[in-house]
Amino acid sequence: MHDERQWGQATKAIRAGLRVDPTTRALNTPIYETTTFAYEDMASYERISAAALAWQPDNFFYSRTQNPTTAALERKIAALEGTEDAAITACGMGAVNMALLSQLKTGDHFIASDDMFVVSRLSLEDIYTRYGIEHDMVDMTDLDNIRAKFRPNTKVVYLEVLSNPHLKLMDVQAIARLAHEHGAKLIVDNTFLSPCLLQPYALGADIVLHSATKYISGHGDALCGVVSGSKELMDRVRVMADRLGSHISAFDAWLVLRGVRTLSMRAHTASENALALARYLETCPQVEYVRYPGLESHPQHALAQEMLHQGFGGMLAFHLKGGYAEMGRFVDALQLISNATSLGDVGSLLYPIHSDDGLVRISVGCESIDDLLADIKRGLSAL
Ligand SMILES: *Cc1c(COP(=O)(O)O)cnc(C)c1O
Repeated sequence: MHDERQWGQATKAIRAGLRVDPTTRALNTPIYETTTFAYEDMASYERISAAALAWQPDNFFYSRTQNPTTAALERKIAALEGTEDAAITACGMGAVNMALLSQLKTGDHFIASDDMFVVSRLSLEDIYTRYGIEHDMVDMTDLDNIRAKFRPNTKVVYLEVLSNPHLKLMDVQAIARLAHEHGAKLIVDNTFLSPCLLQPYALGADIVLHSATKYISGHGDALCGVVSGSKELMDRVRVMADRLGSHISAFDAWLVLRGVRTLSMRAHTASENALALARYLETCPQVEYVRYPGLESHPQHALAQEMLHQGFGGMLAFHLKGGYAEMGRFVDALQLISNATSLGDVGSLLYPIHSDDGLVRISVGCESIDDLLADIKRGLSAL
């Protein structure tokens, strides 16, 4: 037997977790669209239902709890993240909330980054506060800000490794050490980078999650969340997902299984394209500033060079001189890059952000770089 854990990220993305289907010898994992699984007899009922309740893998009894297509995706994600286990949720918000709720209860406190995906922020501010789970939000690029907020009941530190939308890069290793010194767990959302560019578990994060809707799936056709870590912590995540109802359909799990196979290639091409666009934008007189971790001008560029050896990712943001009105003219002149929310798609997407007087966020895709550059030039010439 080969040891999947020794493979490179590209091999893991393509081959890890794959098992030839035992009934048909189908090479690819079939879509097991079934809600339930029949028992041969009372003995198998007793054995399988007891094992399923104890979260032992491959004991299928009901698809909210475990499904063979979803299980194949769990194995692949665990291999990519270098973790013992992984759990799949209905979408990225499922991953954020199941991970946090698996570690927090009323009366607990957690520290969160001040820059994060807007729906995650709304969830923490509206829902957690209502259930008596308090938090502080700080700029985590300065460790002293975090250090100052620990309380005796602080259970979790939560951050996005490369934050949405301002692309702040977090020193996962240093923050993990700080969290552990205070008896807290570090939960990170690594959606903006993907496991082919960084595996935060090796840097000390306890739980790593992604909106797999984005890079991991990569084709803009399935919502999915993934959470990874130790088997013990993942079982707690599974309990939350099972009880609160965040399971994925077998079809969507299969779409992600199909999409993730090209993750390594997509992540590398998107990184190359984004670096080229960021470098170009920085030379343009209409541009006030560009934020991209691969640029020398990025505030954490030195840290980015230490952490990101496989590429700086496909996400970049920039601000035009003239702000929101100029952004509108730029966006409307584009013909290739789509004005649509979401990110991590194989095709480039742009999202105009209202705050900051118009910040342009681009999820750079894998198109030919000359076509992307021509589109950016088209947008700028409309100003
Ligand atoms: C999109 C996103 C989410 C939420 O993911 P969904 O799959 O849309 O629910 C969470 N975190 C980050 C950083 C995201 O970009």
